[in-house]
Amino acid sequence: MGKAVALITGASRGIGRGVALELARHGYDIAGLATTPDPNNTETGLYAVKKESEQCGITFLPLAGDISDLDDHQRILDEALACFGHVDILVNNAGVAPLKRVDLLECVPESFDRVMNINLRGPYFFTQRVAQHMINHVGTGAAYTPRIVFISSISSRLASINRAEYCVSKAGLSMTAQCFAVALAPYGINVFDLQPGVIATDMTSAVREKYDRLIEQGLTLTKRWGVPEDVGKTVAALAEGYLDYSTGAVIEIGGGLSVPRL
Ligand code: NAP
Repeated sequence: MGKAVALITGASRGIGRGVALELARHGYDIAGLATTPDPNNTETGLYAVKKESEQCGITFLPLAGDISDLDDHQRILDEALACFGHVDILVNNAGVAPLKRVDLLECVPESFDRVMNINLRGPYFFTQRVAQHMINHVGTGAAYTPRIVFISSISSRLASINRAEYCVSKAGLSMTAQCFAVALAPYGINVFDLQPGVIATDMTSAVREKYDRLIEQGLTLTKRWGVPEDVGKTVAALAEGYLDYSTGAVIEIGGGLSVPRL
């Protein structure tokens, strides 16, 4: 078998980019998904991540697709398999915040459905497909230890009533990780739920000043913003097998944000 292969959803920027670059440093070939990659733009977006990560001597396959479109999942997986033959680690990272932060009492079904489709329904069914590939490949007897990672959020557990639909989607994603951990353990496939705290990306850029202030006031025990590389390093540790006696494990990457204090 060739190099280890990572399939990363939402690899064009933010946390997904951080995960891609870290896995590239560890020698992984990468299939990276984003909605509208532009081959003519190698300064930002998926093709910029391809350029950067290939400097490590790996191959990066850019994939265009929308994770909420279930009918397109097989095509996305088939393209990755046609290029690399197998997937060693799936990183379910693609996700969105609500277009507008609105109080729970005002939340509209359109926003609820959009967030749920991208953050929960999409990855739930995409993982089903990739897991089936992994089970089949395990069955060939190849030297192969596949793993699955979900990037949920501390919002799985901490309620924010100005984006409740996001929190609900992430709580569902955390339970999805638990269920897949149970279902896939018989095949030796470990599943992890990574819960980032406040990470500096496009998603949090609109609330930058608010969190600057809160971090200064002690929101996190580690007094700084998280960066995508923090999540990338954690995924690399999982991919490299450093947590192989753990499955269904919930790992917070939040600088101690959720430690109860008095
Ligand atoms: P981001 O900077 O906004 O990036 C989101 C990524 O997801 C982009 O690569 C985007 O690709 C992709 N994406 C969005 N919708 C998609 C869809 N329908 N189909 C396929 N790809 C799609 O966000 P981020 O902060 O890196 O967040 C990444 C993940 O971490 C999300 O699941 C988020 O909920 C979670 N998270 C973030 C934080 C944080 O503080 N930033 C904290 C906890 C958890 P395009 O180029 O196509 O837009």
